[in-house]
Amino acid sequence: MKRIGILTTGGDAPGMNVAIRAAVRTALGMGIGVTGIEKGYRGLHEKLFIELDSRSVSGIINKGGTFLKTIRFPEFKDPGVRKKAYANLRSSGIEGLVVIGGDGSAKGAYYFSTDFDFPVVLVPASIDNDLYGSDFTVGFDTAVNTAVEAVDKIRDTATSHERTFIIEVMGREKGNFAIEVAVACGAEIALVPEIPADWNGIAESLRAQEAMGKTSSIIIMAEGAGKAESLAAFLREKLPEREIRYSVLGYIQRGGSPTYFTRVLATRFGSEAVRLLAAGKYPFMVGIKGDEILYTPLKRVVTTSRLPNLGNIELINRMAI
Ligand code: ADP
Repeated sequence: MKRIGILTTGGDAPGMNVAIRAAVRTALGMGIGVTGIEKGYRGLHEKLFIELDSRSVSGIINKGGTFLKTIRFPEFKDPGVRKKAYANLRSSGIEGLVVIGGDGSAKGAYYFSTDFDFPVVLVPASIDNDLYGSDFTVGFDTAVNTAVEAVDKIRDTATSHERTFIIEVMGREKGNFAIEVAVACGAEIALVPEIPADWNGIAESLRAQEAMGKTSSIIIMAEGAGKAESLAAFLREKLPEREIRYSVLGYIQRGGSPTYFTRVLATRFGSEAVRLLAAGKYPFMVGIKGDEILYTPLKRVVTTSRLPNLGNIELINRMAI
């Protein structure tokens, strides 16, 4: 293999830059040239190709986001669009692809690889941690820590004013993120898309907690579990004596300098992805189980859904006394 391409796609995640850096330097060290593809799958289709050398990835290990940029490109579901992307790769001498992205990106990578029998390896990077085949995705740990820091600050004011705060965090389809944040922040309640919430039950729990002497509380709500604003309005009606506030954390959760954990993971994943390509193994996703790097066929990744650790909801309940 003489040349590979690297792209980042889907939602951005802290540590994508670190994975690019690791893949570029591993490839160059093996005598493989590297083409950076800007704006994900759109860049494949529109041939937004740039040459990357070792210095192209200097000084980015501590930078959030992705310098190759990412964009959503639903057109990639069209086989005709993928065909043009393939022709662009062939005409540029690119013989393998490292794709850095989340679950949607995994589907694009799988279809592209199988359409043309083209070598593709996925580095799982997503703040949702919702991919089968890896305990962790690149960026998850950083985003959870960002949310934890923000919730801690809100707790200070919740305690001082004896308020109940509903805090909406990332997670449109999955509760992985909200559950981890809730455990780490000592939240009294976590609401996730996988478990439809009984809002009357929430009001009762808050009353019961108050009877136990809790004068403030934190409810962590994944955005897919409902609107924090609506729950706040509902609880104000049910518990008029309480001061109920809500806060939507929003995009701050996506950015920021990657944590040590994210950086080590992204470096291992980016490097392993290139080694796998060079060994002619595809289409795979690199992942981690415990401290072991493992490879999962992309077909398995795209056809298996990953459930959050719902056991941790019980843990949250056990702590909320
Ligand atoms: P993420 O990878 O973060 O989950 P998306 O779901 O937006 O983000 O997916 C990223 C990109 O992957 C999409 O913009 C699209 O280009 C491509 N993609 C998603 N689903 C498919 C699919 N079924 N077939 C081909 N490409 C897809």
